[in-house]
Amino acid sequence: MNYGIIDERAEMKMENNVLVMIPGPTPVVRPIQNEMGREIQAFGDPRFVKDYKALIDGLGALLNCSGQAFPVAGTGTLAMEMAIANSTKRSDSVLIVSNGFFGDRFIDICQRKGLDVDVLSAEWGMCVSVEEIRAKLKEKHYAALTVSHVDTSTAVAAPIAEIGEMMREFPETIYIVDGVAATAGEYEDMDAMNIDILFTGSQKAFGVCPGMLILWAGKKALERRKALGTIPEYYVDLEKWLPIMDDPSKYFATPAINLVWALKKSMELVQEEGLKARYERHKKNALALHAAFEALGFAILAEPECRAVTLTNLIYPLGLDDAAFRKAMIDEGAIIAAALASYAGKACRIGHMGNITINDMVTLLGAMERSLIKCGLDIAPGTGVGAYLKRYLSTP
Ligand SMILES: *Cc1c(COP(=O)(O)O)cnc(C)c1O
Repeated sequence: MNYGIIDERAEMKMENNVLVMIPGPTPVVRPIQNEMGREIQAFGDPRFVKDYKALIDGLGALLNCSGQAFPVAGTGTLAMEMAIANSTKRSDSVLIVSNGFFGDRFIDICQRKGLDVDVLSAEWGMCVSVEEIRAKLKEKHYAALTVSHVDTSTAVAAPIAEIGEMMREFPETIYIVDGVAATAGEYEDMDAMNIDILFTGSQKAFGVCPGMLILWAGKKALERRKALGTIPEYYVDLEKWLPIMDDPSKYFATPAINLVWALKKSMELVQEEGLKARYERHKKNALALHAAFEALGFAILAEPECRAVTLTNLIYPLGLDDAAFRKAMIDEGAIIAAALASYAGKACRIGHMGNITINDMVTLLGAMERSLIKCGLDIAPGTGVGAYLKRYLSTP
């Protein structure tokens, strides 16, 4: 994305100290950074093979996956393609549940593969209901259903557990969840939620540099892949990767060595914290942030019943200029993201997922207060930070 507002001075400053509060990449903490700086090893080095295997097995257990976890080089978008490639064949029907920009991305991916696509879309800020999805699934046979757990354009969270429960009525349909802005922030359990394929990218709630994707395929998804026979895709073919995931000393395509280490360190941090505790931390933080954002005069795009805990889409108060505000934010030490599509210029997006702390939030809100004042809004210093701490400290 071209921010278009970063001048040279800001660039110099960013090199020093600008908090990255966009919805990915998210802040990379020192222990994870250290893994990126390690001396390279051969992919067949027994020390690396052991680390890669620990990552593969650890990730499978973390999400309670009945099949196989595939941490490989690539981004979230490649994982979307991987999910479709391994669960459908040309002229199959796919049902796309879209709560925004990233949900819609599946439409193009599926149409290019020659799939028959039906889309259920929600108005931005809302999410498609389980009842609507059930009704559509009853109309015809779908090979797969896709839904973004959190759509990063709207900061809406879909009810993936409820959808998964309903999906038990349609065992012939592969349930695909895009967890790119959710996994390791929002709570997920593949087996309990009846999810067949889940995926994310390293740079979102895992808090690692961009460059790795993780795709989890449950038993049913692996059976589907097998039933498809030879597929046209090569790099993303799970059958190609399965022997590597079993024994990573084998070669198929070069693993991103340092990213594997970085992701393993991140996984260990997540294991230590616990997925549920990590979700509770994200939720407590998000609720406090929402109180602060509203105190500062922003409106929150997502309806209260479907708000994500990993990021927020904030609609500007009257008279606040988008470019001026985001530029002021950089000067004050935090970079936030532009809104997408019809909300461009009218809103901004703030990521609050991964390995972030209460100190980061106070820094962010302080920068927001100063930026709003710079932009001519009448804000009493402390309004945002005060609302945040008040809410945070009163939540158990
Ligand atoms: C970021 C994101 C993607 C795309 O991931 P890339 O790593 O940018 O390719 C897909 N889906 C969602 C929900 C995302 O937030």
